[in-house]
Amino acid sequence: MALLEVDDIHVFYDNIQGLKGISLTVETNRIVTLVGGNGAGKSTTLRAISGLLHPRQGEIRYDGRTLAGIGAHDIAAMRLVHIPEGRRIFGRLTVDENLGMGAFTRRDRRAVAEDRERMLTLFPRLRDRLRQVAGTLSGGEQQMVATARALMARPRLLLMDEPSMGLAPMVVEQVFETIRTINQQGVTILLVEQNALMALMISDYGYVLESGRIVLNGPAADLIDDDRVRRAYLG
Ligand code: ATP
Repeated sequence: MALLEVDDIHVFYDNIQGLKGISLTVETNRIVTLVGGNGAGKSTTLRAISGLLHPRQGEIRYDGRTLAGIGAHDIAAMRLVHIPEGRRIFGRLTVDENLGMGAFTRRDRRAVAEDRERMLTLFPRLRDRLRQVAGTLSGGEQQMVATARALMARPRLLLMDEPSMGLAPMVVEQVFETIRTINQQGVTILLVEQNALMALMISDYGYVLESGRIVLNGPAADLIDDDRVRRAYLG
């Protein structure tokens, strides 16, 4: 079943058209990757899905319901959670406080405490740093905080924008390993990555964007083997 259906959305920044009719589907429990060069519209697509931008035309349906007219806050409460580019953690708050912020709409305090414990099992490094101010963490650790904070909202669909950006190669591998683990725990993932090959290697399906349009889509394995994709995006 499709958890997310994006149907011909057109998105503008004032007069600049960021998306010129994007349609895509994310099936439940899959990992789907958006591939494309700078300015292709990948981040804009995620922003439209999470309600930060509103399509001028087209429709987005999540779990069978239209998201038209629903604000970003309410969309997050529907367990559609966005980790934006650049991570946007609360740099002056501690790691523990950041985790708490991820759960701030939840009332089920015992389950929140259990989830916090699960996060510290998923990211053991964070356990030693619970009282550390998050802005002083390494890039890889900040990505862990951003991911753990998002997971504290118990997402069904997680949008991840460039999670490996700026990280050392070894840490990048851990990020992709974590994405796979999160997916195996039942979270559907829509991923945007510059590191297209690694992203496609853990994905079920992929879409290639150019200038606000989808130019190619298919099973991730087919995209990895596609000459055009290899030449343009996989180095
Ligand atoms: P990148 O990998 O460089 O982040 P992207 O594929 O995520 O690229 P977007 O950031 O979605 O691309 O940009 C799509 C288009 O929208 C580009 O033409 C870009 O210049 C434009 N755009 C993006 N953000 C803004 C903004 N805040 N104001 C005006 N135009 C924007």
